[in-house]
Amino acid sequence: MMAEARSAVGPSVPLVGVIGSPIAHSLSPVLHQAAFAALGLDWRSLAFEVPAGEAAAALAGMGEHGIVGLSVTMPHKADVAALVPAQSDVSARLGAVNCVLNRDGALFGTNTDGEGFVASLLRGAGFSAAGRRCLVVGAGGAARAVVLALAESGASEVAVLNRTVARAVAVAELAGGAGRVIEPGAGDRATSRGRGPDLEEVVAQADLVVNATPVGMAGGTGDEGSTAAGSAGSTSTWIVPPELLHPGQVAADLVYVPRPTAWLAAAAEAGATTVDGLGMLVHQAAAQLALWTGLEPPVDAMWRAVADGE
Ligand code: NAP
Repeated sequence: MMAEARSAVGPSVPLVGVIGSPIAHSLSPVLHQAAFAALGLDWRSLAFEVPAGEAAAALAGMGEHGIVGLSVTMPHKADVAALVPAQSDVSARLGAVNCVLNRDGALFGTNTDGEGFVASLLRGAGFSAAGRRCLVVGAGGAARAVVLALAESGASEVAVLNRTVARAVAVAELAGGAGRVIEPGAGDRATSRGRGPDLEEVVAQADLVVNATPVGMAGGTGDEGSTAAGSAGSTSTWIVPPELLHPGQVAADLVYVPRPTAWLAAAAEAGATTVDGLGMLVHQAAAQLALWTGLEPPVDAMWRAVADGE
């Protein structure tokens, strides 16, 4: 079926790709090629540098040249969600597409980030969110995917803590009745809804605590503005102090450079079971591969391709 998706001027072998900017250091082609090798498929994966605002041209090129699938990364996820003619319920709710499938010329978008995160928890910590209390720090695109996926997995509570409270409110709504907003500094001051819950209490009761901000990332900590707890780059920026964590909990960080982040290493010191962001990267890519090829993705081969010595 996919062979027919390629046009007469298309590549001689099935082609997939990743679009983003900057894209030079993307691990997606490495993951894709490892999967193709393990599956015995003569397919190719390429990284395309696509400047912000130019996703429409990339999608047009995908259709014209019969490119089978595109992985979509920063800064194009929202634009692609607005451009694809058809998409999954998940990407429509998130307003973000990270994967496009070319179905014989008809483009279909979806989002595998949340699915990848949930799979990474299972692989890395044997953790299932059903009936569990979760706390997600951050309210950007990644946090949205994580919060929706945790709620869809049956979490009893998905609390969201973010520097900008209005964004946390919007993200918590994705979790429906399980959603809850924790204000920075809650417990220290009164809120319009009365005194907020103490962060210490929320963390103590959580089964899962997730860092979905870029804080701790090598080469920068997101935008270097002021945070709820201090200036970026120092341990004081950890909105959830790792010493509040305890054995029996899972701490997950979406950041995977470095592995582990300082926060995750400190969480392990405190006794939590830790999961870094590489698993989400591998599993969201595996879910995309499954869509494009119709085959069971070779997750272990993909993992080995990006995790040195594991
Ligand atoms: P985003 O849309 O830009 O959102 C960033 C979030 O982090 C916002 O909630 C922002 O708060 C908060 N933030 C940024 N800098 C901060 C700081 N210095 N102190 C406190 N909060 C800060 O980014 P994103 O796409 O959600 O990505 C978040 C992280 O997840 C990135 O590191 C990204 O690389 C990683 N990620 C990993 C995977 C994976 O596969 N492992 C997938 C996707 C993303 P405000 O709302 O107040 O601005």
